[in-house]
Amino acid sequence: GGSRSTRRKSTHAQGEHANSMQKDPGKAGTEVDWFSLIGVISLLCFAPFIVFYFVMACDQYQCSISQPLFELYSGETTLLSIWARSPSFTWSAAKIYAIWVGFQVFLYMCIPDVTNKFIPGYVGGVQDGARTPAGLINKYEINGLQCWLITHALWFANAHYFHWFSPTIIFDNWIPLMWCTNILGYAVSTFAFIKAYFFPTNSEDCKFTGNIFYNYMMGIEFNPRIGKWFDFKLFFNGRPGIVAWTLINLSYMAKQQELYGHITNSMILVNVLQAIYVLDFFWNEAWYLKTIDICHDHFGWYLGWGDCVWLPYLYTLQGLYLVYHPVQLSDAHALAVLLLGLVGYYIFRSTNHQKDLFRRTEGSCSIWGHKPTYIECSYQSADGGIHHSKLLTSGFWGVARHFNYTGDLMGSLAYCAACGFGHILPYFYIVYMTILLVHRCVRDEHRCSSKYGKDWKRYTDAVPYRLIPGMF
Ligand code: NDP
Repeated sequence: GGSRSTRRKSTHAQGEHANSMQKDPGKAGTEVDWFSLIGVISLLCFAPFIVFYFVMACDQYQCSISQPLFELYSGETTLLSIWARSPSFTWSAAKIYAIWVGFQVFLYMCIPDVTNKFIPGYVGGVQDGARTPAGLINKYEINGLQCWLITHALWFANAHYFHWFSPTIIFDNWIPLMWCTNILGYAVSTFAFIKAYFFPTNSEDCKFTGNIFYNYMMGIEFNPRIGKWFDFKLFFNGRPGIVAWTLINLSYMAKQQELYGHITNSMILVNVLQAIYVLDFFWNEAWYLKTIDICHDHFGWYLGWGDCVWLPYLYTLQGLYLVYHPVQLSDAHALAVLLLGLVGYYIFRSTNHQKDLFRRTEGSCSIWGHKPTYIECSYQSADGGIHHSKLLTSGFWGVARHFNYTGDLMGSLAYCAACGFGHILPYFYIVYMTILLVHRCVRDEHRCSSKYGKDWKRYTDAVPYRLIPGMF
């Protein structure tokens, strides 16, 4: 139980939101420049084809991403013949996907979280989100870990005892399923867009720009919900995509076994390293409520379609590649990948943990065995109130301003390096994550700089680098 949201006067509106709210509360009149507009429209039209291109390259060209281009250039093939060779929508894929999403909605809505009673240190059950720009604190039912465990227990029970379906089912329907995920991705984004105009969950947290495409892409509503508990951001971010991530990898592993009679060490590495990341996500789902996605992004196509299509298809390219190229790594190579992945994960997790601990205890904690050092900051919220905050400058936060991203990038590189050096396709992930996290870094610093002003300058003087000390 627990009530959905407690309406409070804004005392914590921050940065860009705070600035825009002062002009016109709730309906921020942000202008969108031509450059951003062209970017937005191109992404809306072409992003599905980028995803299609990678998956098609594996299906038709053994994961070579240059071969289709060469053949198109030399006239050996045409776009139409590539399209004609691709599997299209099937009703059996639609049935699988509908059951999948329906099952995840059922788990999300109906499974009470009891895991926190059994596992020490795990935080589940009803939790508060961060305060929204309009001053609301939403309640969330955190049960992701439990849903992940139930889903995977059923997957293994099916594979070993029930045999209702083959564990290769995801791989076998991969392209028809892509049609289904796109239908859901666009439907959810369009629904969220219309909902924002006609029946928003909280109109004060809506952000309208003067441009309809930008609104559609970046989202208007902050925390759209249906009823008390069905939260779009939490559900779509975590459930159909991230729960599926590990199952998709397991399906690739089953396919390798079926095709070659054995599983390569590279496939095991990709499965294990990505499973650690996914499990970490669900273990820390309550912490996730305080990250940028939930605290600052609005829900539009960027999150809706991204979670349904981009994430499950492009974050799992390594496993897909290994089905077509069963790379067996030397022991030294495998060990190096494992170490890189584990060290990256350790940095990612400890950095996030240090900030969390520091903020929760307001600095009364120990970091690397010492009292933390920090910079005292102040900022003004939309209602004119002055507030105080602290920026940690010791532990990993003294090494670089976003060392958590550095750890994340090391882990991402490890997944790619597990696929050997035969093709570029499995390296898409590290290229994409670098762009995503550098962009996020710049966005976040822009926000922090307008929030904290000269205090932020003192912080950047104390910790001069963003990701890699001495370089960037
Ligand atoms: P952070 O957890 O780094 O949070 C940034 C915020 O922390 C800032 O806006 C500021 O907020 C506060 N802050 C900044 N510097 C300090 C400091 N020195 N001391 C205390 N607080 C500080 O960013 P994210 O939410 O983006 O990332 C969370 C994690 O999720 C990261 O590890 C990232 O790698 C991962 N991630 C993974 C993605 C994926 O697709 N795999 C995508 C995105 C993120 P305030 O206003 O409170 O001061």
